[in-house]
Amino acid sequence: MKYEAVIGLEVHAQIHTRSKMFCPCPVVEDTGDLPPNTYVCPVCAGMPGTLPVINRRAIEMAIKTGLALHCEIPPVSCFARKSYFYPDLPKGYQISQYELPLCVNGYLDIETEEGTKRIRITRAHMEEDAGKLYHMGDGSSRVDLNRAGVPLLEIVSEPDMRSVAEVIAYATRLHSYLVYLGVNSGDMEKGVMRFEANVSVRPAGSDALNPRHEIKNLNSFRALARSVAYEIESQIATLEQGGVIVQQTMGWDESRGITVPQRGKEYAHDYRYFPDPDLPPLEISRAWVEELRAGLPELPDARRARFIRDYGLSAYDAGLLVAERAVADYYESTLSQLASAAEPKAVANWITGEVFRLMNENGCTITGAPPPSQLAELIDLVQDGTINLNTGKRVLEEMFTTGRSARQIVEERGLAQISDTAALERIVAQVLNGHPTEVTQYLSGKVQLFGWLMGQVMRATQGKANPQLVKELLQAQLEARRSG
Ligand code: ADP
Ligand code: MG
Ligand code: ZN
Repeated sequence: MKYEAVIGLEVHAQIHTRSKMFCPCPVVEDTGDLPPNTYVCPVCAGMPGTLPVINRRAIEMAIKTGLALHCEIPPVSCFARKSYFYPDLPKGYQISQYELPLCVNGYLDIETEEGTKRIRITRAHMEEDAGKLYHMGDGSSRVDLNRAGVPLLEIVSEPDMRSVAEVIAYATRLHSYLVYLGVNSGDMEKGVMRFEANVSVRPAGSDALNPRHEIKNLNSFRALARSVAYEIESQIATLEQGGVIVQQTMGWDESRGITVPQRGKEYAHDYRYFPDPDLPPLEISRAWVEELRAGLPELPDARRARFIRDYGLSAYDAGLLVAERAVADYYESTLSQLASAAEPKAVANWITGEVFRLMNENGCTITGAPPPSQLAELIDLVQDGTINLNTGKRVLEEMFTTGRSARQIVEERGLAQISDTAALERIVAQVLNGHPTEVTQYLSGKVQLFGWLMGQVMRATQGKANPQLVKELLQAQLEARRSG
């Protein structure tokens, strides 16, 4: 029997406001060096008698996100208490939303091998983050409430994904949207975005929604991909051996590469949701929604379409450039600082080719690459013929490691291209005289030797010759020898 996977994703994204969801404490990204419990007040510490006050900015950013994800924003939204006991949750309940979430019925389009696919978004609701526990190794645990009360948006998809590739396409696109919107830094290492994956399998072609496993607390795309792949395989194996799948909450064991059932008792939730009596229903005026809609920035899909239309890029290249807002900005900034008439397509190739490769090699992001003004200068030097393309690539490598400008490197190292015809003619003649066997073979029909001879000439010039000119001179001299 052939099976197919059914996957729905719950994504928790922090919303980067200045202050927390219901109190004035600052929201600070977890860089690891902030002392525990620096930003805590009676409200986020859950002291009796305190009252929450809604952060308008957090609601605004959440609505913007909902609108970008094509959601409806119902006129009334309600906060609810989700009760459970855990030491990182001082109130004994989390303020969340249940029956009337802020955003409903949206979607996000993803690119798959079969083309564009629409993943429906059921809802996106506001909640507050919990604190963090540190297990000390001597058996004791400590709690840090810096994160308690940070606004979170939980974005819940329909079970529309069918493979690991679709899950990753969806998660990365959502990530990209949040960063474009300025809602979230996108810095996964700092835990600003976390996933829960719901996975079931069924015979291919069936539309059954079978019992699912919910994998909790996935903090990276890698863990998401690996755990979902593992679940799909292991569920299929269970069914093939005549077993049954029961609905269950799983944890991901990164080191062993397997999911493990979480202890039923500890996680058997009865959240006893009820409307939070401290927070009256939130009325959201249509005027406010429209104002926020009008203020949405250009989002990845629109930017990609514009890159294809205005710069003549392929859908693939445009997709690579817009995936990260910082990269798309880098590209456009480079374009705007060019002095030469280099093609936008050529500039895109520099970035998706050499710049990406060197970022990889140097283990840095686009902010660690030479600034756009310097890349523009380098491309200009290639465009106006001062250096050839290969030298340009070498220069870029040096720009990455030394931080020096293209012009400085070219001048100091004497890399300017040799376009002096007389000088090149002499070098070509020397090379041909030095390799009589290859010349004879070439002239008797072994035409692939042309590339090799060309390589010898380039080598003799330390790669600095203008390749087009070398090609012409080489052709001419070989032909002359044929007739001579
Ligand atoms: P819960 O409150 O238990 O997390 P939800 O109704 O919020 O349940 O659903 C959680 C997620 O599970 C959603 O993303 C949904 O698409 C997904 N889901 C629901 N049914 C299935 C299924 N049979 N297989 C895979 N995913 C599913
Ligand atoms: Mg869930
Ligand atoms: Zn506080």
